[in-house]
Amino acid sequence: MTAPAATTADQTPAFSEYRGVWVYVQHRAGIAAPVSWQLLGVGRELAQQIGVPVGAVVVGSDVGHLCQEAIACGADTVYLIDNPILRDYRTQPYASAVAQLIRKYRPEVVLYGSTVHGRDVAGAVATVARTGLAADATQLAIEQDGHLLHASRPDFGGKLMSTILCKRHRPQMATCRPGVFPTPEPDPSRRGEIIEEPLGVAENDVPTRVLEFIPESRHVDLSNAEIIVAGGRGLGGPKAFDMLFELAQVVGGVVGASRAAVMAGWIPYQHQVGQTGQTVRPRIYIACGISGAIQHLVGMQDSDIIIAINSDAEAPILKIADYAIVGDMFQIVPALTRRLRERLAEPSADGHSGPERGTESANGLEPPPPRSQKEDRSG
Ligand SMILES: Cc1cc2nc3c(=O)[nH]c(=O)nc-3n(C[C@H](O)[C@H](O)[C@H](O)COP(=O)(O)OP(=O)(O)OC[C@H]3O[C@@H](n4cnc5c(N)ncnc54)[C@H](O)[C@@H]3O)c2cc1C
Repeated sequence: MTAPAATTADQTPAFSEYRGVWVYVQHRAGIAAPVSWQLLGVGRELAQQIGVPVGAVVVGSDVGHLCQEAIACGADTVYLIDNPILRDYRTQPYASAVAQLIRKYRPEVVLYGSTVHGRDVAGAVATVARTGLAADATQLAIEQDGHLLHASRPDFGGKLMSTILCKRHRPQMATCRPGVFPTPEPDPSRRGEIIEEPLGVAENDVPTRVLEFIPESRHVDLSNAEIIVAGGRGLGGPKAFDMLFELAQVVGGVVGASRAAVMAGWIPYQHQVGQTGQTVRPRIYIACGISGAIQHLVGMQDSDIIIAINSDAEAPILKIADYAIVGDMFQIVPALTRRLRERLAEPSADGHSGPERGTESANGLEPPPPRSQKEDRSG
């Protein structure tokens, strides 16, 4: 299918009129979700390959400060709509605002985080802008000729990679998993342009009201965790998760889980790592009693250091582990917790103790190598 020809007023513009790679900057109350910066990093790479600028879309109330953050992370231009109507996230005004910017400035690619917020707004924008949306991409590439975006994701239970192309519509849009792409090092000296637009929606046009915001009582932030202690079916029941929570607390980490443990009702879904859970990229991932099914591995294989404890020497997770410990976790985990607690209590040369001791050994373990030095396990 070839691109449509140039237009009259209510026709689709020619593909050649769309230019630039945009990233939607997701935030809550003005604090950006890290996936926004991760996508600016990969968005910049794509844009450089085809020689186009990078745009960031900042939509909200009192969010002007995010513009400079976006520029520092790689945006050339920030498109800002700042209006009190946008104080709380609501699908309709947010989607209208993004679609309004797309209609006016015509980017060829728009990327969103695959979060609850990102998926919601992207789906609504796709409907308003009459374009396609690839969901949950874990790899992105772009063709030099025609600038066709290749958004790839694991499919059929992780056994296949599907690549989704949007050949007939612009912009090409994709939601991308948090934690898959590295966060770029911000450069505060970068300069860029900020274009502010008024919101084309009035409060009376919005059919929903936010009456109250009740935060989840036990929020689990797996995607930003530096250390994850994850448990699987090998734990045998919910009680055994206590020892993982204890280890996580000692090392300043959070607890993850396999789907088997979640499906058994031992731990809530928000802890699940993997294809149908969260994709994580911590510095250290400690897998306890997890066999290493492909659907689990796709969610954690990019961790800097993988420590796997399993009683079965043939368990697949041991093959991708940096430290493979064959044995009974009911003996190993408490011993590890005890040893780490003692080690972290020991005063260091500067007289401090505990996890705050210093970034080079904040967890009492040797510092992991930078991500760039790890071999590619995705093969
Ligand atoms: C469409 C689809 C999506 C899926 N999405 C996900 C997903 O997002 N995340 C996910 O995790 N799975 C997912 N799965 C499920 C996945 O295929 C596996 O079934 C699941 O990961 C297995 O979990 P597990 O490793 O905890 O359990 P098991 O495979 O049963 O492994 C338990 C392990 O514990 C070890 N063990 C037992 N006792 C001990 C002990 N005392 N000490 C040490 N080790 C011990 C055993 O040797 C074994 O290796 C998905 C499946 C499908 C079809």
